[in-house]
This record gives sequence, C-alpha cells and structure tokens, in this order.
Amino acid sequence: MSKPIGIYIHVPFCQSKCPYCDFYSLTGQSASIFDDYTEAVIRLLALWSGRLSGARADTLYFGGGTPTLLGGERLAEIIKAAGRHFGLEGAEITIEANPGDSLEPVFSAFAQAGGNRVSIGAQSFNQEQLRVLGRRHNPADVRAAIEAALSAGIRNISVDIMLCVPTPEPETPDRQIELAVQSASDAAKLRVKHISAYMLKIEKNTPFSDRKGELFLPSEDTAAEIYLAACLELERQGYRQYEISNFAAPGYICRHNLKYWNLEPYLGIGPAAHSYLDGRRFYYTANLDAFISGCAPVPEGDRITKKITEQEYIMLKLRLAEGVTNQGFLERFSHPIPKKYYRRASLIPSEYLTADSKGIRLNRRGFLLSNTIIARLLDD
Ligand code: SF4
Repeated sequence: MSKPIGIYIHVPFCQSKCPYCDFYSLTGQSASIFDDYTEAVIRLLALWSGRLSGARADTLYFGGGTPTLLGGERLAEIIKAAGRHFGLEGAEITIEANPGDSLEPVFSAFAQAGGNRVSIGAQSFNQEQLRVLGRRHNPADVRAAIEAALSAGIRNISVDIMLCVPTPEPETPDRQIELAVQSASDAAKLRVKHISAYMLKIEKNTPFSDRKGELFLPSEDTAAEIYLAACLELERQGYRQYEISNFAAPGYICRHNLKYWNLEPYLGIGPAAHSYLDGRRFYYTANLDAFISGCAPVPEGDRITKKITEQEYIMLKLRLAEGVTNQGFLERFSHPIPKKYYRRASLIPSEYLTADSKGIRLNRRGFLLSNTIIARLLDD
C-alpha cells in the first residue's frame, strides 16, 4: 500500500449520554475496562501493521465517545504503538474532547506523545441551549478547554457547534436564526483554526426521538435559513467552507476527515469503527466485549468488488466545496466526468449547483438538499 493511510480509533466511553447522540458509547466503565480496551487497540495496531506490511499513516484520530476519559497515559501508549507500526512521520494527530472535563493533564500527555490537534465539542455558547442538549458544561468551560490545549502547546484547535438546537419555548424564525448566528460568531471569536457546524438531526432510538413532539425545532425553511446565515457568518469571520459542515482558517483543513471524502484508505479500530482499505469497506461491530475479546471485523454490505464506482466517487466528492473535478475524475477513472452527469446537472437550477469546465459542484443551497440533488445526478 503506497498511499499513507489514516487511522481512526473509536473510544466508546462517555461520562453521561447526551439525549441527541446515537454514537456507540457506554457510561460507567471501570479503569480495568479502559486497560483491556487499550490493550485490544494496541494488539490490533500490531496485527494490522502485519497485514498491511509497510503501510504508513499520516493521520491518527481519536474519536468517540469521549477519548480523553482514557487518560493521558493510555492515550500516549496508543500513539506510541501507532508510531511503532505505522511511522506517523509528520502526522496530524487529533483527539476529540468535551469541555468541563479535567483536560490539562490529558492534553499535556497527548502533546508529549506527539498529539497536535484537538477537536472540542462546544455545541453552543448559550447556557439554555446547552441545558436543552443535556451537556454537562457551560460556555466558560469551552474557553478553559481551549486554554488547556494552548498551554499544552497545541495550536491546531477545532470547535464543534450545533445548528437548529431545539428551544425550551416556541421561538420566532428570526430569533432561531439569531441564536445560530450568535453561536457561529462566538465560535469564530475564539480564533480557533477550524469550526464544524452540524445541523442537529433527530436520530432514531435516542431520547430526543422519543420526545420529538415536545421539542421546539425550527421548521424546514427556517433550518435552511439558519444554515445559510451561520455559513455566511463563519465566512465573514475568515473561515473558508470546504465541506458541507466544515470550515477552516487557511492551511487548517482537517487532513484526516478529508480522507473519507477523497476515498483515501483508512483503518478504523474500536467497536463501531469503520475501515476502507484496499477498496474494501468493513467495520468492528458495536460491542465492547466482543471487541476486547478479539472479534474479527465484518464486511460492509455485500460488496465483493474492489473497484470504486463512479457513483460512489461522485457521491462523496460532492460533499466537498470543490466538488467532483474533471482532473480528479481523469486521475481516478482515466477519463473526464461523463457527459451524462453534465446533462443531468443542466436540469438542476443553478442556485443549487455549478457545472463548468472544471467540474460539478454544489452551491451552498445545494448542500442543504445534497441527498436529493445527488440522487438526481446519479439516477441511471
Ligand atoms: S459526549 Fe459526545 S459521544 Fe458522548 S454521548 Fe455526548 S455527544 Fe455522544
């Protein structure tokens, strides 16, 4: 495998469950479970380095869950093992963290082991919104988390915010938009290098989905206005949008996440972690005990071919602001974007999509309807 891979480590532990979250994570786990989990991750790093003989990694990402719960020592052991087996020369090494946790010692050990990027789950800077979201922290904790990263020497800091947060009382559309713009503006004022702005989606089997009727959520039209207004605010503050939900200061695009949309290889380790290697997709099941006891990953879907289809490529690339380019298509498939996609693109209003000699890309309004537009482009 010549191209460097990305490594994703899913750390499935949280202090408490947020009512909107459907990620696989467990609460109330003991230190000995953390040890067993860490050992399993290190064992698998060795095993995969044998299988992918010679593979190097240039990104390592600890996501979750709440990876900082593992503590600095275990995280450092995992980083060292990844370095032994996959090099990690010049790698981007990220950890997700929640404000309000005791982060200084963890960030310090993480940075000493080579960690150089943190992603902080701020979600909102409005105390009332944080309460509705069931978050344990307050707005001041976000600033403290950033300070903790900076004092550990980590400058590459990302902040997550959430758009379309339910309000405790019914609000006018104008007020809902104002709240989202305020959140984007507060995040930008922190002068972090990267901001992710996700629209809240009510996922099945979460407390929010059970209480959906009681939540005061923006209408679909207001949600669209919220997204557009938040994007404009982030852009006004100097962040460039490079993906539907991601914005970066110049030079700070997340290299790890880019691998997903560019169909570059990545190895996912941990329960519920997905991989894409050598053209094949597979994942470890969402079961901590099975993961610790060494269960094998399972293939995703019924895919047996290693060939990336044009459709798969277009679907992922259209999440990016640069879209699907003729140059990229040529490199991947040895021919430019087929005419049929241009024909279909010409039937879609230009407020949603641009198709020119460079390629095809969604505009901001197109991002809002990306699933529908992509389905129309790919409809054979
Ligand atoms: S802290 Fe993050 S991963 Fe854990 S429950 Fe909340 S949103 Fe989900």
